[in-house]
Amino acid sequence: MTRIQNYINGTYVGPVNGHFIDNYNPATGKVYSEIPDSTREDVDHAFKAAESAFSKWSTTPYTERSRILARLADLIGKNLDRLAEAESIDNGKPISLAKAVDIPRAESNIRFFSTAIMHFHSEAHIMEDRAVNYTNRKPIGVVGCISPWNLPLYLFTWKIAPAIAAGNTVVAKPSEVTPMTAYLLGELCTEAGLPPGVLNIVHGSGPNTGQSIVDHPGIKAISFTGGTATGAAIAASAAPKFKKLSLELGGKNPNIIFADCDFDDMLNTTVRSSFANQGQICLCGSRIFIERPIYEKFRDAFVEKVKRMRIGHPQNPDTRFGALVSKGHLEKVLSYVELAKEEGGTVLCGGERYLPEDEEIKGGYYMHPTVIEGLSYACRTNQEEIFGPVVTLMPFDSEEEVLSMANSVDYGLAATVWTRDLSRAHRVAAALESGIVWINCWLVRDLRTPFGGVKSSGVGREGGFEALRFFTEAQNVCIQLKS
Ligand code: NAD
Repeated sequence: MTRIQNYINGTYVGPVNGHFIDNYNPATGKVYSEIPDSTREDVDHAFKAAESAFSKWSTTPYTERSRILARLADLIGKNLDRLAEAESIDNGKPISLAKAVDIPRAESNIRFFSTAIMHFHSEAHIMEDRAVNYTNRKPIGVVGCISPWNLPLYLFTWKIAPAIAAGNTVVAKPSEVTPMTAYLLGELCTEAGLPPGVLNIVHGSGPNTGQSIVDHPGIKAISFTGGTATGAAIAASAAPKFKKLSLELGGKNPNIIFADCDFDDMLNTTVRSSFANQGQICLCGSRIFIERPIYEKFRDAFVEKVKRMRIGHPQNPDTRFGALVSKGHLEKVLSYVELAKEEGGTVLCGGERYLPEDEEIKGGYYMHPTVIEGLSYACRTNQEEIFGPVVTLMPFDSEEEVLSMANSVDYGLAATVWTRDLSRAHRVAAALESGIVWINCWLVRDLRTPFGGVKSSGVGREGGFEALRFFTEAQNVCIQLKS
């Protein structure tokens, strides 16, 4: 059994208290590794390593930081198979998805910021013949990065890459539910020549390790992705210490389908946008609104396709639908199906746990993809984040009506709109309370674009220069000119 270690000052070390937490394989329901239950002391060791690395790293030329990050990206690419297998075992996601999306995107994240830092620039404001102002964008110091379990290495690298590229040093914590690829990343950082202390990876639970990062007086900024309730708790702890905060939180994304859409394209994409990664992507559309004239046609075609989806062993290369991440999460998602029934919903397919016949995986956390209709847009099932393979269908009659239903939730992360009417697409996109809108597509990602949510889906934007701005402090320098 692998015993995961913290990666501090360029070496693997165990937790000071010697305590470990069990790590489960969601495909089998069995413990297959252990992770450190790190405490304040471990976080402080990581902080001290980061603090002593900061002065050298922050003054290392950006061209050199770029070269090291490019080497790290190459190494992730070279280790694609090994990392994808580790991600699939740890998370329950199909290995095909880890190979096609998670690990290639982790490589792209690092490569993107290794080049972005070469083009990062600041402004000058010239006051005719009186003075010149220029903006000095300085690295902040030691920063904290905390990530969730659904896209483990993908979201972990999305944070640490801009932090390091901008000259900061980092104390990072992956989710305790999916620690494995972040653990493996440590050795790749060493091989890439990342100086000791620039990236420190501390494992453990949220309330223990995560909270210690948030509370540490020397850690000056926190970049967090995870649930809205956790984000609120982090904001409450960090705000009185005046830490810079970036919060990427939960969602309840609408998928709005007008009758004039390209039906086949919409149908295929909607199956994916509903159930990719077993519905455990913050960008998945969970509330599907269908214009009334095509409601029944859509419902019947969609349910037929969903019923044909086969659940399988995540490590089988042909599997497209794997396990949910944990027993607790499976139970939470199933409880929402019960709630939906109590609220008057009709389960059109799925709704239950799937128990495989295969002896090896029969204790795994599987659930049938589930489609529900007949619910009010205002009920709890349609207002609260479920974050699993459950979608609801609702008909609508007008643009105005669908916008008021779509915007009725506390969240505002992503939305999808299907229509061939360009003017309507613009109009609806502008009226949606959502940080991201996809028109006639889903999850098409350009890493230069601002990424993030509004309302309870978060504060701040990641991506492109937005992330480099977050991980730097802008200082204005004004030089008086004398004639
Ligand atoms: P979570 O909030 O439970 O945990 C996220 C991370 O925060 C984990 O590493 C956890 O250990 C840590 N944590 C928990 N309590 C903490 C505390 N008090 N202080 C500091 N750290 C703490 O979320 P999760 O269940 O891992 O992930 C699922 C959630 O993430 C969903 O709500 C999903 O929508 C959201 N998510 C959002 C985005 C986005 O970009 N907006 C992307 C992916 C996932």
